[in-house]
Parts: sequence; C-alpha cells; structure tokens
Amino acid sequence: MGIVMRIYNTLTRKMEELEPIEAGHVRMYTCGPTVYDFAHIGNFRAYVWEDLLRRSLKFLGFRVTQVMNITDVEDKIIRKMIAEKLTLEQATQPYIDAFFQDIETLHVERAEEYPKATDHIAEMIEIAKALEANGLTYESQGSLYYRIESFPQYGKLSNLENREVKSGARVDSDEYEKDDARDFVLWKASKEGEPTWDSPWGAGRPGWHLECSAMSMKYLGRTFDLHTGGVDNIFPHHENEIAQSEGATGEPFVRYWMHAAHLMVEGEKMAKSKGNFYTLRDLLGKGHDPRAIRWLLLGTHYRGPLNFTIEGLNQATSEVQRIDDLIARLDREPAGDGENAEFDARVAQEVQAFGEALADDLDVSSAAGALFRLIREAHVAMDRGALPVSSREALRAGLGRFDEVLAIVETQDAAIDDEVEDLIRQRNDARKNREFAEADRIRDELAARGIVLEDTPQGTVWKKGRPTGAA
Ligand code: AMP
Ligand code: ZN
Repeated sequence: MGIVMRIYNTLTRKMEELEPIEAGHVRMYTCGPTVYDFAHIGNFRAYVWEDLLRRSLKFLGFRVTQVMNITDVEDKIIRKMIAEKLTLEQATQPYIDAFFQDIETLHVERAEEYPKATDHIAEMIEIAKALEANGLTYESQGSLYYRIESFPQYGKLSNLENREVKSGARVDSDEYEKDDARDFVLWKASKEGEPTWDSPWGAGRPGWHLECSAMSMKYLGRTFDLHTGGVDNIFPHHENEIAQSEGATGEPFVRYWMHAAHLMVEGEKMAKSKGNFYTLRDLLGKGHDPRAIRWLLLGTHYRGPLNFTIEGLNQATSEVQRIDDLIARLDREPAGDGENAEFDARVAQEVQAFGEALADDLDVSSAAGALFRLIREAHVAMDRGALPVSSREALRAGLGRFDEVLAIVETQDAAIDDEVEDLIRQRNDARKNREFAEADRIRDELAARGIVLEDTPQGTVWKKGRPTGAA
C-alpha cells in the first residue's frame, strides 16, 4: 500500500522504520511454546500479537518468512517427564498437538517453519563449538558455560547495569531473574534419568537459550530482520541468544527486536507458576467465542499490559457481535440498484486509515476505529435505504480487507449451519402444531449454544451470540 512500517525496537529503544535486509521480505523469528502443558491465554497474547504483526506486514505488502520453534527439551519438561515416568516424546507430543489445535481455533496463521529443538541438537553443538573456539566458554564438571565477561556487549538488549553482572558465578537453570546475570550454561552434563546426546563435552543436553540461536540462524540466516517474544524473554533469554549468536558468528544477529507486554490478572502476570491462569480450553468450555478471545487479546496495544477479566471478554464478545450484526443485516435486507459513490469512497478511506494505523507500531485501537466507523455509517446508510448492491459489495470487500488482519469475521461452519437449520425447522413445526413448550425448549437449547433466533417477516434468522450461562 506504499505505507512505511514503523515499529518500536527494544534494542535501540526507539521507533524505527522497518527496513528488511531483502527489500519487501521480512524474516522473523518468534519464540514458541515450551510443550509440557497446555498454553495459557497469557502465552496466547504473545502468539496472537505475533499473528497480528505477521498479518499486518502482509497487509502492508511485505512477504513474511516466520519461524517459530517448539521447545521440546528444557528443565520443566524434564521435571515432568521424570515425575510422571514418561519418555520425552510422551511428555511433549500431546501438548504439541494441543498447541496447533489452539492456534487454529484462534485463527493464528501458520508460520513457515516450526522446528523442534530435539531435531537440531547437531546445530546447537556447532554453535557451542564455535563459541569455544572463540574463547568465550569454559567447562566445569562436564558442563559448558558462556563466560559473559568475554562478550563486552553483554546486556545491550536488556540494558543491564554493570554492577548486576556477576561474571564467574554460574547458573544452570534455563530461567533466572535479572539480578542474577551470570555465566549461563550452553551444554549441561547428563544427569540420571534425563535425555542425553553425545557432544565434545560428554553426554548431556543443550541449555534452552542455545536452542533458539541454532534454530533461528538455521532457517533465517546469521543476520535476520526481526525477533519477537514477550517482555519476560528479554532477559535472560534474548540477551543470551545475542551473546551466543554474535559470539559464534562475529556478525550482527537481529536488527529489530519487538516485545509484547504481559497479560495480567489482578495486577500480576498470568503464569502457570502463580496458578492464576486460564487455558483457551477453560474459556471455550464456558461457552466463550474464540473470536471474542482473539479480539480481547488483540485489542490492546501490545506494549501496554492487558488486564484479563471475564467482563472484558464479554465486552469483546459484543464488539465482535457488532460485525456479525452488520453482516446478518446485509444478508437479510434486500438492496436496491444505483450508486452511493460517497459511501464507496468512505470504504476506501477507512481501509487506508486501517493500514496506516497498523503501520504505526501496530496501533490496533485506531485500526479498529476505522472498522467500527464504517459499521456505523453502513447502518445509517441502510436505514435511509441508501446502500445499493454496488456499495454493499464495496463494503464487503472492505470488511474482507480488515479481516485479512483481524480474522474475527464469522466464517460459518457448514456442519453447524445444517444442524442449526434443522433445529429451527423442528421449532417452526412445533409452533405450527401449537406445541409451544417444545418450541421454547429448542430455542433454549440453541441459546445455550450461543445461537440467537430472530423471527422476521421473511422467516426465522439466526446469529451467533454469547451462550446463555457463560460466566
Ligand atoms: P513460555 O512457554 O513460557 O516460554 O512462553 C511462551 C511465550 O508466551 C513467550 O513469548 C512468553 O513471553 C509469552 N508469555 C508467557 N506468559 C505471558 C503473559 N502472562 N502474557 C503475555 N505473554 C506471556
Ligand atoms: Zn526463544
């Protein structure tokens, strides 16, 4: 669309124009799930936002090559595997499957590659060997550590103060806090019961940080454009990725870093360890519409915290419903011939405004403003009988453009359609036979599934709303 994309770069702490190495083609890496349990919707805030970024880039005319890793060997996975006497695959495969189901439910577009850590051990060992050859490591008791003091730029992403860096002190765990900037482990000596691979330092397994350096550079090159994650990834994970990749290749690793703020619950980060989380399945089980969940996760600017409440989710549901209502009205109300050139021009203006808002560091509220203004104006035009067939087509095309990014317009499931139509026929028969209790029962059954019936002079029409009984 000829619009310049500007983003906030965590590395430079500035808004910058996104200029990919290859003109028009953005290569991006997004840290993916650690598959030891179902992802919670805090995780999905990150994944849905990355989908917004991916789709916005495409909307603005970029080609995107996105790689998202699957972390299938890591401390938490191993703890689970040992506690429950599972193989590594038994511990992870169910959650890999669940992850792909969940992102489909949330209309998250597939990345080009989903490499698994266990398929890239050889590449990880190569990076560790290069770091060793460059004098950036030391061994201790069968483990290999990164000596952060030897990499002068350590801390450039997370802005660590020197006094916080405790070189010489070691940390073996995959996750640790910022006041604990220490030499971190690249290769961990094997322990009883853990999965292990051979390496020049003996049998063991890779540290988590090494996984992402290996998988990103394998698929995207030594230097690529964009790397994303949640703010909790900045330190130590992304800082360590930079130290590993740049320390091994001597070349810049990533040009732009973007990070999403957390999904919060009553002022705290939603996290497994805090027990304050919902999975996607929890919310779907209560009857919430996945499109509303997506909209809730998308609708707040990614650099601001999003406080999760059921009330907020219900609000998102009614916003999604405004789109459904307009489409239902377009489907239902007959349209005349003729032209409304003014309205058609408004559609084009709002599509442009939508793109410009997204290009401004993903200003999704302004982008949504374009959508909802158009919805309002469409109703007004229809009330006046001034939305002819040609303008409805322009409007539908415009909504389709918005939905390339938002992906919240109803795509009706044919099987559900048939079942609902069938129940509506049964209800109409019951009403004809004056079996009103039966007719009401069918209406209630549909309502419980979130299907709202409306009896119009043209017959009964239905739409999806919030299920009765949803908390
Ligand atoms: P993990 O599986 O913990 O490595 O997290 C996967 C992704 O979810 C990472 O990008 C994290 O930054 C992100 N994440 C974890 N918790 C939250 C949260 N409460 N809000 C937003 N993103 C999160
Ligand atoms: Zn990562």
